[in-house]
Amino acid sequence: MSLEEIKARIAKAEAEAGRAPGSVRLIAVSKVQPNERVDEVLKAGHRIFGENRVQEAAGKWPMFRERYEGIELHLIGPLQTNKARQAMELAQAIHSVDRPKLAETLARLAQERGDCPDLFIQVNTGEEPQKAGIAPADVDAFVAQCRGLDLPVRGLMCIPPAEEEPSMHFALLAKMAARNGLDGLSMGMSGDFEKAISFGATHVRVGSAIFGARDYT
Ligand SMILES: *Cc1c(COP(=O)(O)O)cnc(C)c1O
Repeated sequence: MSLEEIKARIAKAEAEAGRAPGSVRLIAVSKVQPNERVDEVLKAGHRIFGENRVQEAAGKWPMFRERYEGIELHLIGPLQTNKARQAMELAQAIHSVDRPKLAETLARLAQERGDCPDLFIQVNTGEEPQKAGIAPADVDAFVAQCRGLDLPVRGLMCIPPAEEEPSMHFALLAKMAARNGLDGLSMGMSGDFEKAISFGATHVRVGSAIFGARDYT
């Protein structure tokens, strides 16, 4: 599947959901992909990318930034507090704010830098013990805590349980965002981004459907 096809499918899903054209941002998830494939997508004009590890992002994006203007990098994977400073230097958005200690660290660094990436709070909508994210019952209090720390919270993010139909999770995330006055909804991946758009996604994170399967060997 190509970038153009994914963009066409997003446009169609926007139209079908009665959403404004261009209201959904496509984050091309380039983690683990060879640089040549990423370069092709940059050459095709795309500028919004997602990575899930700080170290991997640091290894490729400064180089791509020297070659292409206007790159916007979104960090979508778990963030250790000792990598927070580097993450803030690299990324324009962090989608994985998932615990008070991380929020406090980001707030301290934001004060120091006078600047902070856009933040999304990750919600563990499936309440899976192995998965990161704030429990649904704690979301309102955590949003309030982040706002109290002056953090620029733009929205909520979720990764539904792999084996479940995702609709309920997308609906739940949308409802929690709305009651907290948040516009941003980071939800939907290669297999379900059209469905996420029908539930209000503003940021879809699509990797393998653009770049092909990831080769971890
Ligand atoms: C890898 C990843 C994606 C992209 O997954 P695909 O199924 O390849 O589209 C989206 N979100 C997160 C948080 C990821 O880690």
